[in-house]
Amino acid sequence: MQQQLTLRLLPSQAAGPDNISEQIAIQLSVNKEAVNGYYIIKQSIDARGKQPWINLTVIAFINEPAQQRTLAPFIYKDVHDANHQVIIAGAGPAGLFAALQLIELGIKPVIVERGKDVRARRRDLAALNKEGEVNPESNYCFGEGGAGTYSDGKLYTRSSKRGNIDRILQLFVRFGADEKILYQSHPHIGTNKLPQIITAMREQILSCGGVIHFETKLTNLIIRDGELKGIEVNHKDVLYADAVILATGHSARDLFELLHQNNILIEAKPFALGVRIEHPQALIDSIQYRCYSTPKPGEVGRGPFLPPASYSLVEQVQGKGVFSFCMCPGGIIAPASTAPGELVVNGWSPSKRNNAFANSGMVVTVDVKDAADYFKAEFRKQSQSTQKIHTDEQDPLLLMKFQQAIEQKAFIAGGGNLVAPSQRMADMFHNKVSSSLPSCSYLPGTNSTSLADVLPGFIFKDLQLAFKAFGEKMRGYFTNEAIVVATESRTSSPVRIPRNPDTLQHPQLKNLYPCGEGAGYAGGIVSAAMDGERVAVMIHRQLNHL
Ligand SMILES: Cc1cc2nc3c(=O)[nH]c(=O)nc-3n(C[C@H](O)[C@H](O)[C@H](O)COP(=O)(O)OP(=O)(O)OC[C@H]3O[C@@H](n4cnc5c(N)ncnc54)[C@H](O)[C@@H]3O)c2cc1C
Repeated sequence: MQQQLTLRLLPSQAAGPDNISEQIAIQLSVNKEAVNGYYIIKQSIDARGKQPWINLTVIAFINEPAQQRTLAPFIYKDVHDANHQVIIAGAGPAGLFAALQLIELGIKPVIVERGKDVRARRRDLAALNKEGEVNPESNYCFGEGGAGTYSDGKLYTRSSKRGNIDRILQLFVRFGADEKILYQSHPHIGTNKLPQIITAMREQILSCGGVIHFETKLTNLIIRDGELKGIEVNHKDVLYADAVILATGHSARDLFELLHQNNILIEAKPFALGVRIEHPQALIDSIQYRCYSTPKPGEVGRGPFLPPASYSLVEQVQGKGVFSFCMCPGGIIAPASTAPGELVVNGWSPSKRNNAFANSGMVVTVDVKDAADYFKAEFRKQSQSTQKIHTDEQDPLLLMKFQQAIEQKAFIAGGGNLVAPSQRMADMFHNKVSSSLPSCSYLPGTNSTSLADVLPGFIFKDLQLAFKAFGEKMRGYFTNEAIVVATESRTSSPVRIPRNPDTLQHPQLKNLYPCGEGAGYAGGIVSAAMDGERVAVMIHRQLNHL
């Protein structure tokens, strides 16, 4: 007999297959020997009460041989001599999943990626962390796997297209991710595991006849008779194809400028900007699991069976949304700048999430009016300034310029070498420069600064008010033990590249398919991957007149 059942277990009861089998036997009132196996189809933690519970939904095999979970088959075709060829600019999740989908459909993908492969990229990340040196072509955002490779690898999405999400998760498993991601409510891979998965995807693409050019940047579009015919790369070579997928991510500012200069329609897109906040993980555990924040030496307050706790916070403040973003339990704050002289932070965690800190972005929504008002106020403050003033609310690059201006200000306030301007949380609330800063996972270092001098006034004020509100929702969250680090600015794209919803092509330029986060159609690894697949399926339909 096969039986689906839901178990509500203590963390210790859910630890290990023997314990779970025993609980299945108890719930079904059968002997333990009758439970020949099980697999989990859903797992979540309920930490609302004093005692945290693990909820598991399982398929159990009683008195019959146990079966394995069935994984979807993915059949990749040989596309060496395919009739159709599609260029994909950008090897992030959108670009890679588009390439794999094209191969399933018998179309040859040719990927051009400005950055390096995952292994070579590591050296540039080391230089970022150790010397504060930014390689504008190879960093946390640019390179094989895109911004997703050295990320946290959280695989949750707000998208409700469950079938498509499951397909993406199954693909991650096919290329080496742990099967747990198929059933956990908050699946996560970890920075240490992602590079092997990306490498396996590359090997699949190459073995089928797909092509990948690293250190190859799209530098222009080849347009004839109003149709896109191909691209120029590295300012010299030209590649032709039936279609071009533009999956260059939210940090490719030069690409947005290129489109704008060529009069290819782009639009400003509201995004969110703020800071990254780091607490001791033990403190977050103690709030979320109601356990000790100062356990005995060698012990973890939450005990051996619960994962490091996470949180998600949102508040409306003075008509603006303030929300936590990309929370990384047991994580590290990373320098995610893509150009010298700019300071951007983000976060990642290893698969075990075993670092001593919990960090999260905390950001405020920004629209074109906010950006124009900010530039006007800055201009008034510095009447002698030679800085160019950007106040045109019709400028599609206005929000990008705003984002860049804050990043540059943060860089200067930190004192250079990617040292980050920082303040303790309660000090920031009380407008007090911190006399000392707590230790922080951000490797380039922190510099005690008033963040009121770095962040736009409305963002600073909204964050102050939100901190207090969050402290009421999560007692202990509002504390001077937390460090606030500027600036978290690459939350989503500040530009949208429009596309026709029926054809997914740019409305002005046939054969150009804007895709993924940079074009404004995704916000994270899973949604970018889903968008890549969606665009690939559409191209297949159009090339084959289906
Ligand atoms: C440190 C960090 C942690 C993150 N953590 C998470 C997380 O846990 N979960 C999550 O869902 N999301 C996370 N994100 C965000 C996530 O990585 C992105 O949402 C996702 O990667 C977007 O995918 P994409 O393919 O659209 O673009 P990207 O991943 O940005 O990829 C774009 C690619 O295009 C390339 N490119 C740019 N310009 C050109 C050009 N002119 N020519 C050729 N190539 C070009 C870039 O080098 C890059 O490789 C994180 C991001 C960072 C930086």
